[in-house]
Amino acid sequence: MKIILAQPRGFCAGVVRAVETVEQALELYGAPVYVRHEIVHNQHVVDSLRRKGALFVEELDEVPANALVIFSAHGVARVVEDQARQRHLRVLDATCPLVSKVHNQGRQYAARGYRLILIGEPGHPEVLGTLGQIPAQVTVLLTVAQVEALEFAADTPLAYITQTTLSVDDTRQVVAALRRRYPQIVGPDTRDICYAVQNRQVAVRALSACVDLVLVVGSQKSANSVTLRDIAGESGIPSYLIADGRALRREWFDQRPTVGITAGASTPESMIDDVLAALARIAPLDITSLPGPEEQVQFRLPAGLIARQ
Ligand code: SF4
Repeated sequence: MKIILAQPRGFCAGVVRAVETVEQALELYGAPVYVRHEIVHNQHVVDSLRRKGALFVEELDEVPANALVIFSAHGVARVVEDQARQRHLRVLDATCPLVSKVHNQGRQYAARGYRLILIGEPGHPEVLGTLGQIPAQVTVLLTVAQVEALEFAADTPLAYITQTTLSVDDTRQVVAALRRRYPQIVGPDTRDICYAVQNRQVAVRALSACVDLVLVVGSQKSANSVTLRDIAGESGIPSYLIADGRALRREWFDQRPTVGITAGASTPESMIDDVLAALARIAPLDITSLPGPEEQVQFRLPAGLIARQ
């Protein structure tokens, strides 16, 4: 079986920072360390941190007073920050700086009197956090049809911001539809879709052009992994989103000798190794990698950790 790996793939700088935040907090402060929500959307990462002493909770009232709590890479609403202060919790904020940037933009637009539209998936933790960071009414939408159904008067001062992990192409179409209906609308184009998400989408498109089938390694909960699977599927070849090697089905590979592999931004490289090991049990592998950009982005750890180093 010929295997072609996408480049880049897997962990982004925001996920590396979030995972390191939990690991270093455990090292510096000792277990238990509480983490609000899955630190990143990957069960293997969560399980590995749990084994090291992290305790995952959904809400802060599950955290004892004075304990250390880490906010996940997706960001949190202001009300959660306030609750942590009221309960005297010690906080390390692992919100990805690119998500914080969207929060800031939203607040600035709101302060300047714009009515805000957030292009994003309703209910996604990042979207909930962003909504809760902006002290104004925000309309969430995801599709061109939803743009067509908007009922703002034509001269409403409008601005939009975007979730960081969307499909660049789909978002471009939504932005174009917004601009058609409301030419005065302001916003950041698709630049706020994060560099790592964009790079992985470009890479999976190139990969899909030269393989018979694509495997995306990642969680069903991971928005950017789902998008990678969808982009590969648009090329007309089968594409599967799998958590690890156990999810493989031998029949997928009948008459499909060339397999492309990529991974979402919250998937560790060890999960790709796991998938390769499972594939090697089906057929001998010839593994190559497509050329692609080497990402150099790094984010500083949260202030509370830097101070202790
Ligand atoms: Fe940050 Fe992008 Fe990674 Fe999300 S995918 S954590 S926005 S670097």
